[in-house]
Amino acid sequence: MKLGNYISGAWVDGGGEGAALVDPVLGDELARASSQGLDLEGALDHARKVGGPALRKLTYAERGALLKSVADTLTENRDAYYAAALANSGNTKADAAVDIEGAIFTLGYYAGLGAKLGDVRALHGGGFDRLAKDKAFQAVHIAVPIEGVAVHINAFNFPSWGMWEKAAVTLLSGVPVLVKPATATALLAHDMVRHVVAAGVLPEGALSLVCGGARDLLAHVTSQDVVTFTGSADTANQLRNTPALLNQPVRFNVEADSLNTSILGPDAGPDSAEFQLFVKEVGREMTGKAGQKCTAIRRALVPAQFLDDVAGALQARLAKVLVGNPRNADVRMGPVVNRTQQAAVLQGIEALKKEAAVVVGDGPFEPADADPAVAAFVPITLLRCDSPDSASAVHQVEVFGPVCTLMPYESPAKAFALAGRGGGSLVASVFTGDDAFAADAAMGLAATHGRVLIVDETVGAASTGHGNVMPMLVHGGPGRAGGGEELGGLRGLRLYHQRVAVQGRLDRLEALTNAAAEVSF
Ligand code: NAP
Repeated sequence: MKLGNYISGAWVDGGGEGAALVDPVLGDELARASSQGLDLEGALDHARKVGGPALRKLTYAERGALLKSVADTLTENRDAYYAAALANSGNTKADAAVDIEGAIFTLGYYAGLGAKLGDVRALHGGGFDRLAKDKAFQAVHIAVPIEGVAVHINAFNFPSWGMWEKAAVTLLSGVPVLVKPATATALLAHDMVRHVVAAGVLPEGALSLVCGGARDLLAHVTSQDVVTFTGSADTANQLRNTPALLNQPVRFNVEADSLNTSILGPDAGPDSAEFQLFVKEVGREMTGKAGQKCTAIRRALVPAQFLDDVAGALQARLAKVLVGNPRNADVRMGPVVNRTQQAAVLQGIEALKKEAAVVVGDGPFEPADADPAVAAFVPITLLRCDSPDSASAVHQVEVFGPVCTLMPYESPAKAFALAGRGGGSLVASVFTGDDAFAADAAMGLAATHGRVLIVDETVGAASTGHGNVMPMLVHGGPGRAGGGEELGGLRGLRLYHQRVAVQGRLDRLEALTNAAAEVSF
């Protein structure tokens, strides 16, 4: 079976043999994806000329209602999505839920924001700026949707959430979307778009899908378009330097990889609740989606005097996780997404082993109910680097699998500096009962991270977790993490709007703001 591409209002098959999508447990080929021969320039043009005007004619509330209809369509078909996530990504049910339910939740959340913005077609920043002695002449900032198309190039690890969290913000903004899922796991994204198109809930041109390689897609973007990229820092750098993006003043938002940190506070000894919460979180982040999350904890920083205790506690915890075929109900961790990723993860572990000793993962490894000759499993691997100051790979090599390195620190300042050695990360979490350390950590980590989670005993149960991306919060990070920002409630709409300062007679400006919703971007 070849996955269809939905462009210019029709399903089109790409030419040639296409790339194979495989089951990472059984090794079976599931489908092929190809974009060969597609008129991608025409597809972008159709989205701009047909989808854009249709969306901009609607108000935020009406576009919010469209998102609700998309969420309802996905909800009706959700069983099929769990089957696709199992087959093409080797997801356990819990892993698939993060991707599928996370998408439906985010669509519903942005549908609600649309209802709150109401029946208007523009936004304003609130307040007028007085420019002259005469109060009659003032200025106001308003924002309107850009008139291009948003091209979303997505990573393989969240084919559902990665697609809809971006599409929700874009469509609510009034901008059409062309999605290019990662080829390896495009099945789920394809099936979802097929259902949404069949349900007829979006205006024509609002949503397009290209499965397979991006080919010349970026050569056809123009200055009113937005390109978002989620994937590895290497690909991001390559795209930054493509002539298409260098020569065109196109908005380019990057969400790239990240060596995220979790820090155990100096106060949090083995008997503390924070110690238990930290160990639970590191264990969960290592094994959830087999560690294939951009937000996963790659470096766990521990006060030097507690390092042995943490290593022991994690060893005990990880020993309970059954790794194998997710069709077995006792399995808690599945494979990585394919044999290529398996090879990349194993190679990454070898790089880390030059600077760190293996605590968990060096022994014999046999995944349950799976044939290692065809499957793409990786053992849960916990390492320990006793000299993180002089090490480099542990701070630089993102091993995109169930892998984490423990490191000691001697002082709070040292811990924050080690966290910063990731070169800019998506998230750091801190487990402490000490308010002063918590305050220092928030400030000490802020410049090098997009999000800081601070947990103590009292919020341990309420915490949404280190790795979970909540749509209310800004997602992104500086430096290596890409420097992009998405989500963050209404802040996310900024990328798809043009802000304009309008100067003139106050009563005219008031008329403009009366027809706009107030937001603080
Ligand atoms: P990747 O290899 O960089 O690919 C990402 C996307 O870019 C895929 O859709 C890929 O298409 C496409 N692509 C590759 N070369 C391209 C080119 N020359 N022109 C246009 N598109 C191109 O990353 P991945 O392996 O899918 O994902 C894993 C990485 O993503 C990890 O490093 C992870 O940390 C990061 N990630 C970050 C976030 C975040 O929010 N910060 C979220 C998830 C994942 P094909 O599949 O067709 O090659």
